[in-house]
Amino acid sequence: MKKLILCMIAAVAGLTAAFGATAFKQDFKMDTSSYVPFDAATTLTLECPDSEGAKWIKAHFAEWFGNAAPKVVEGKTELSLPEAPADAKADRQIATYDEAYAAKVDASGVKIKARTLAGVRWACNTLRQLAIAKRGTFKVEGRILPTLTIVDKPHLAFRAVHLCWFPETRGEQIERAIRLAALLKFNYAIVEPWGTYKSEKHPWFAWPDAPLDKAEVKRLVAIGKDLGITLIPQLNCYGHASFARSSSKKHSTLDINPDYEPLFEPNGWVWCIMNPETQRVLREIIAEMHEDFGNPPYFHIGCDEAFGAQKCPLCVKGSHSEQLLAHLNGLSDFVKSRGARAMMWHDMLLDKTDPKWKNFVKFGSKESASIVDRLSRDLIICDWQYSYDNMKKKHVEWPTISYFADKGLDVAGCPWMNYLDMMTMSEHIVSKGAFGFIETTWHRLRGKEWEKMYMNAAHAAWGSPVSHGVSFQRSLRLVGRDMKIKNYLDTGYINYQIPPSYNGD
Ligand SMILES: [Zn+2]
Repeated sequence: MKKLILCMIAAVAGLTAAFGATAFKQDFKMDTSSYVPFDAATTLTLECPDSEGAKWIKAHFAEWFGNAAPKVVEGKTELSLPEAPADAKADRQIATYDEAYAAKVDASGVKIKARTLAGVRWACNTLRQLAIAKRGTFKVEGRILPTLTIVDKPHLAFRAVHLCWFPETRGEQIERAIRLAALLKFNYAIVEPWGTYKSEKHPWFAWPDAPLDKAEVKRLVAIGKDLGITLIPQLNCYGHASFARSSSKKHSTLDINPDYEPLFEPNGWVWCIMNPETQRVLREIIAEMHEDFGNPPYFHIGCDEAFGAQKCPLCVKGSHSEQLLAHLNGLSDFVKSRGARAMMWHDMLLDKTDPKWKNFVKFGSKESASIVDRLSRDLIICDWQYSYDNMKKKHVEWPTISYFADKGLDVAGCPWMNYLDMMTMSEHIVSKGAFGFIETTWHRLRGKEWEKMYMNAAHAAWGSPVSHGVSFQRSLRLVGRDMKIKNYLDTGYINYQIPPSYNGD
């Protein structure tokens, strides 16, 4: 559950003031000494112009609470929602007000006000996270809620998590991560299969028995759509072409299907972009994935860490920067022709020898960084900055985000495990009118890191103080119940309490 530690409001108010970024302040008051019934005798009054809101609550209350579900009626409430300031310039700033909600719980019942189905969902998520079983009985006989009032809205319109599906990853883990992200009010999840997407057209590029087939993609997309989180597919279209971690020396194609060697540069890490067959294959897989994912508004083309390539005789000829530009703009145009925008990681676009990027992530050469001004403005730059110089420091300056934004590119700030400065990054994104916020998780989607990544990022994306403790655990458990989890391995935030390889005493 978000935002439950009121004593931290003051600290965040200080932060917001320092950046002067937002007029809105979350209003949250809760009295845990005064619980009221939240059961079949309770009436929930919903005020929302979208009739889908009431339908959504009724369906989900039946799913979550069964016979103990409160009654839902549509009607006027005395609640009010925050209004977008008159000087709001960007559509994406105004869009955050469309997701606002207000809720009130007292002895007279429960009231929710929202402008959209999205706001209704976030309000219900909040109430569900706060509801506990009625006390003093053997089994659940209804629930109770603390009396409360809340007026809330997200800080950013685009709030994503980035999820990696390795061959080692359990499918249940990805579904739990998607559902939990929605419960914590993220509205996008970028899904990056690491050789685990089963293309019908090009099955050779995945590991054998790849779990993410069409039916599974469609099932997950439908779950996300219902919960208010849009899934975005990712295909690495330059570096990371092995679809395996570099430290593993594995390659999802070349280790099993060596016939396809000409599609890659000799070391296999990078696609051979001057081979017209590579360009055909990438477009065919992008089209297939995009369609399987229900044609979402974005498609991530990867392109990070494209270093160390030993160039083939085709690619060694001509200008590297012109090759890159044609490759990236060509893919962007192709994604645009499908009605979507391409996203790419930023690192090749910053010159690693430029001292102004000291302490920031940059892997570009002078050549690769030189293409920024001629890149298609349809591309969204995903600027991953992990505070590698000092992860215990709260960084305030985010010059790389400013660099891309000032050049008129849409840019998303992407933290990882730099928990301390996620809030300052979120504030910086808002102050620059930048595109959004993407929490990356890589191979750390488990244990304490999972909790810290999700909790800190969710709160940064909503511009509110972090509350640790039982909230992640309770939220994860709600997700498990929704999935009707019965397997021990799919409970908690680790598969095993004691790893199978453990030989200690
Ligand atoms: Zn080549």
